[in-house]
Amino acid sequence: MRDDLSEIYHDAARDDVEYVFGDSITSISPGGEVRFENAAPRRFDLVVGADGLHSNVRRLAFGDESAFSAFIGAYLGVLSLPNLSGLDGELRIHVGVGRTAGMYGARHLGDARVLFLFRSERQLDYHHRDVPRQKELLRDAFKGMHPEVERWLDELDRTPAFYFDSITQLRMDTWSRGRVTLVGDAGYCPGPAVGGSTSLAVVGAYVLAGELARAGRRPRARVPRLRARDGGARARQPRGGAERGAHPDSCVPPRRVGAGPGRPADLRPARGAQPRPDPPRQ
Ligand SMILES: Cc1cc2nc3c(=O)[nH]c(=O)nc-3n(C[C@H](O)[C@H](O)[C@H](O)COP(=O)(O)OP(=O)(O)OC[C@H]3O[C@@H](n4cnc5c(N)ncnc54)[C@H](O)[C@@H]3O)c2cc1C
Repeated sequence: MRDDLSEIYHDAARDDVEYVFGDSITSISPGGEVRFENAAPRRFDLVVGADGLHSNVRRLAFGDESAFSAFIGAYLGVLSLPNLSGLDGELRIHVGVGRTAGMYGARHLGDARVLFLFRSERQLDYHHRDVPRQKELLRDAFKGMHPEVERWLDELDRTPAFYFDSITQLRMDTWSRGRVTLVGDAGYCPGPAVGGSTSLAVVGAYVLAGELARAGRRPRARVPRLRARDGGARARQPRGGAERGAHPDSCVPPRRVGAGPGRPADLRPARGAQPRPDPPRQ
């Protein structure tokens, strides 16, 4: 689950990385000065926006989300509720025309989760932080489907965890501008209908870290080798090897990413990079 993965990364990095919770960036200057809602301004060589589909960093550096997002005609809602039926590795599902609702549970979870998926010809009118409006839209979409679905909808008023969003893809021509770059859903969200986006986020961050380690103190010369093109992750190929700062051996052709078992040769840590050992198993 996403929260388990977040904890694994946090535990592995917390001794070396400064985490600041409960704050957000309000501006980034071309020189790298970053202003926050709460904390004092600070200067950074590089700002990596890893803040998801509705990225604030992307908005500040590249402009409004609507320029990059493509709605693909459906919405997804998830809520947490008590696993009263003791579901363990099972999914109970109701399928209708243009809408599906299912509840699943797993042994290691303390709760069960209900997933609502429905089609919509047009984009619905709501703000991505307006939770009451999102719950109202979900109730409307699943009204009258089945008594069990009605009981799941009743949990909307009590649930401790709720998610609702359009199924949207993010397509950009470039992920870097000045001192700002993007990783994960912020730069290349394929949307939950496609899947694999966590792997894309992790591989993208790994490749970026390798490029930065290789660039050393001159990241501006090297990082632009990694570009988005044709809506997919594709390394920029050097033109006749003459492009400034380009190294042919750093390119990551898309066909190699995730291809076959084991670790693709292209994803080995860059020369000079010191990979962190795996965290000890609990
Ligand atoms: C219901 C659902 C099911 C999914 N299932 C799968 C699956 O089975 N497999 C899969 O590979 N992927 C799945 N995904 C997709 C996966 O969750 C995302 O692709 C992945 O989490 C992207 O990681 P990320 O770090 O780029 O962004 P996120 O996980 O979205 O993290 C962004 C972080 O930035 C923070 N943030 C956002 N805005 C701000 C701000 N203004 N200031 C400060 N912080 C901010 C957020 O709090 C969050 O912690 C699913 C997604 C959903 C919604």
